[in-house]
Amino acid sequence: MKHVLLIVLFFSLHAVTAQVFNVEAIKISGDDDKRINLVILSEGYQSGELTQFITDATNFTNTMFGQSPFSQYANYFNVYAIKIPSNESGADHPGTATNVTEPYNNLPTKYVDTYFNATYDSFGTHWLLYYEIDGNSANNTHAKISTVLANNFPMYDQAMILVNSTEYGGSGGDFPMAYTGFWGARVVMHELGHSLFDLKDEYYPGDLLAAEAINMTQETDPNLVRWKNWLGTNNVGIYQYTCDTGNCADWYKPHQNCIMESIDKPFCPVCKEGIIEKIHSLVSPIDAYSPISNSVSNPSFPIDFSLDLIKPNPNTLESTWNLNTVEIATNTDAVSILETDLNAGMNTLTVAVTDATTLLRVDNHETFHVYTVTWSIDNSALGVKDITREENKFNISIYPNPTNNIITFKAENSLDTDLKVDLISIEGKKVKTVTLSNYETQNIDISHLSEGIYIAKFYANNVFIVSKKIIKN
Ligand SMILES: [Zn+2]
Repeated sequence: MKHVLLIVLFFSLHAVTAQVFNVEAIKISGDDDKRINLVILSEGYQSGELTQFITDATNFTNTMFGQSPFSQYANYFNVYAIKIPSNESGADHPGTATNVTEPYNNLPTKYVDTYFNATYDSFGTHWLLYYEIDGNSANNTHAKISTVLANNFPMYDQAMILVNSTEYGGSGGDFPMAYTGFWGARVVMHELGHSLFDLKDEYYPGDLLAAEAINMTQETDPNLVRWKNWLGTNNVGIYQYTCDTGNCADWYKPHQNCIMESIDKPFCPVCKEGIIEKIHSLVSPIDAYSPISNSVSNPSFPIDFSLDLIKPNPNTLESTWNLNTVEIATNTDAVSILETDLNAGMNTLTVAVTDATTLLRVDNHETFHVYTVTWSIDNSALGVKDITREENKFNISIYPNPTNNIITFKAENSLDTDLKVDLISIEGKKVKTVTLSNYETQNIDISHLSEGIYIAKFYANNVFIVSKKIIKN
């Protein structure tokens, strides 16, 4: 999806021998520019073993997408495998680990000639399987990996390396690496948690790596902690880190059974939410829509407007269709507009799509994402002569919710326009209207309102975008 490595690509175009390898699709959900593209590179597979690599990459993919939240959001990902042959099989095992007694596991010392020079015993740890020997950047394997990607699949979002070895091992960083055995995929999922989804370790990672993050904080107030919406659900709490050395007592995590602590565990609810948030920020659930033509001359009625959505499984997307700010349909992928539905002159049809998954704490979730398509329909006396459309994305934050006096609104939108917010009481009465500038945080005093439920309705250029429930207590 992402267009990265342009500089590397530029130089590689001038290289004499840009190595091109066979790229095989393992899992295709849609166009590469509308999906998160994971790319698996082979290491330590000889030419004759590349069929086994595809089997291993497929098993890896099945394991990953059997795990929540990837199982629900599998349609947002493509997976490719780049078949890179090595001269010899497996990975180096120098036998120099200091954390075990070598030879460990009856594994002989060996050096093999492989493409990325993967090795066990990195930094003295037997199962640290890594591609720069003891962090020696003189090996330039990182650059070599980048070059392979630039020459063979520059649109990758995340690349990882599968090593043809049954001995447990793996490592993280820009390019997670793992052995092919049972835990390999789970090692990589943990590392993807860091590299693609901005999660922290839920074991203490050391003072240098401790920082405020989705699943790590110094805040201990249950009303303020960033995962407050989850407290008390599925064992989410505010758990102090433990460690032998360092300032771990200052830091807290949301769970005690998360894959970000131990790879035999699932993702905890807070990490799942973080992953889904990132998926939404990378990929719009609107894959395509119709019509896209900028000019439809004298179409016949009814005119069909439709969406092609990237649906989670089960489908948790909700859509709301508004014609001239009047809601005409919900949770449907298509509407038909009759000539009698239209006003004379300019009409606006907007569909807004949100994800109502319970894996996000929707009702009091801090930032929600709304994806819209708006069609402007010019209904002239001579019939519809022009339909234009635009696609937009809105990130809207409402907090704290519930509240008893001040509520804060913040909106970011790709239209770069002000939003109008109407606050509607449960009886349907408009109690407040606020104008919200793009990227601006605005604090609204609602202390004078009576307790109860209110609906905040958001409009952009007088076009209804979305409504959200607010609780005044
Ligand atoms: Zn977690």
